Amino acid sequence: MRGPLVVLGAGLAGLSAAYHARKAGTACLLFEKESRPGGLVRSERVGGFCFDYTGHLLHLSRPETRALVLDELGLRRDFVPVRRDAWVYSHGRTTRAPFQSRLHGLPPDVVRECLEGALRAHRALPGPRAEGPKGSFEAFNLEHFGEGIYRRFMEPYNAKLWGVHPSAMTTEFMGRFVPRPGLSEIFEGALFDLPRPTGYNADFLYPRHTGIEVLARAFADRVETRTRTEAVRVDPSRRRVHFADGGTVGYGRLVSTMPLPRLVAMVRGAPASVRRAAARLRASSVLNVNLGVSNRDICSKQWIYVPDPGLPFYRVGFYHNFSRALAPRGGSSLYAEISYGPGRPIDKAAAPGRVVRGLRSMGLLRPGDRIAAQWVADIRDAYVVYDADRGPSVGLIQAWLKSQGILSVGRWGRWEYSAMEDAIWQGVEAAARA
Ligand SMILES: Cc1cc2nc3c(=O)[nH]c(=O)nc-3n(C[C@H](O)[C@H](O)[C@H](O)COP(=O)(O)OP(=O)(O)OC[C@H]3O[C@@H](n4cnc5c(N)ncnc54)[C@H](O)[C@@H]3O)c2cc1C
Repeated sequence: MRGPLVVLGAGLAGLSAAYHARKAGTACLLFEKESRPGGLVRSERVGGFCFDYTGHLLHLSRPETRALVLDELGLRRDFVPVRRDAWVYSHGRTTRAPFQSRLHGLPPDVVRECLEGALRAHRALPGPRAEGPKGSFEAFNLEHFGEGIYRRFMEPYNAKLWGVHPSAMTTEFMGRFVPRPGLSEIFEGALFDLPRPTGYNADFLYPRHTGIEVLARAFADRVETRTRTEAVRVDPSRRRVHFADGGTVGYGRLVSTMPLPRLVAMVRGAPASVRRAAARLRASSVLNVNLGVSNRDICSKQWIYVPDPGLPFYRVGFYHNFSRALAPRGGSSLYAEISYGPGRPIDKAAAPGRVVRGLRSMGLLRPGDRIAAQWVADIRDAYVVYDADRGPSVGLIQAWLKSQGILSVGRWGRWEYSAMEDAIWQGVEAAARA
């Protein structure tokens, strides 16, 4: 390889790639457009409250990433295990999540409708449930959970989050993210209050004393990041990256973690078919409204899913229930997530007021509560939409980038629905391939 490995973007994927390249003795330069590394794994302190870019909870399912984060990066003492306490607010009640296996506490007519639907769906199935059908996410829901669960939660919640109706989505994103209880589990969860969480995120890790940024910092302290350096053009034939400040750098191998459509737009010589594929990629953005309430602990739960289209946010969460250190004593640190995108405009200035009104209508905020801190983060393209175009388009783009010696990794580099552990692991793999 002539020239260094150049990594664009110092989120977890880029940091991990640079860290592992350095460990392997590969010359590596890491560039980041923002003023500090971390990407979405950063935390902001406002008036004694600490906010992440919405809840960022760490799941380490691979022994390799566990050893890397906890031992090699020395974070064993910083992170503590936390048991999930997630809820759903629907039909005027707050009940446990996931909706499909925790119907207990919903109005009886809703429970009956959901159970009848699940039973009918179960009887219609030819044999034991293995993987979902290759059809739409809607078809999967109707076949596996039935009409009631779909209409009462899955349809409104997913339409609100993704900005796309489930009938236009594939099932490819589901993986570990959508729990698939069997019929007996659905019935059990309707008859009994089952506090014990299940699924991949039943337990997670969260920093004891500060926000999630401690994870990114552990990498960033071990690699050099050139911040405030935005890549604006890539010339694969000359193997050079051009930056907004006029600087350039030559590379032997290039790893990009920036969003895939933006990368395509800046690579010189991208064929029309690749540009057309990039134009077909869709995502839903999130306006993250964070509030610090100084006078009381407003909620003991960690987060609540909100499918109701009449409320502006699809989820509200409480950082101080991940770690008490995230709010001053006796206060609350919370986040509300509002999804928006093409065809779903948002009035960003009015959003905090709408959030406060929504929280009041849910009984979470009271008129006398003191909002002592507010910070709004605009997370563009937060959730990649898995429609029928996504798979073929990403495949075409990645194949062309590969032919140009460019590796595009990370949640937005691969244009996928994935988590922090995946970003770290993709960094490991990218360094190995480079
Ligand atoms: C709302 C939300 C909630 C989430 N919750 C969780 C959770 O609870 N648990 C979990 O494990 N994961 C969660 N995730 C996923 C997690 O945030 C990602 O998996 C992870 O941050 C991806 O890291 P990355 O390095 O791929 O991307 P990023 O963090 O986006 O890093 C990419 C970096 O590239 C930089 N960049 C972009 N363009 C340029 C350019 N032209 N030049 C130079 N630099 C550039 C950016 O500034 C950024 O720093 C959540 C994601 C979202 C959106």
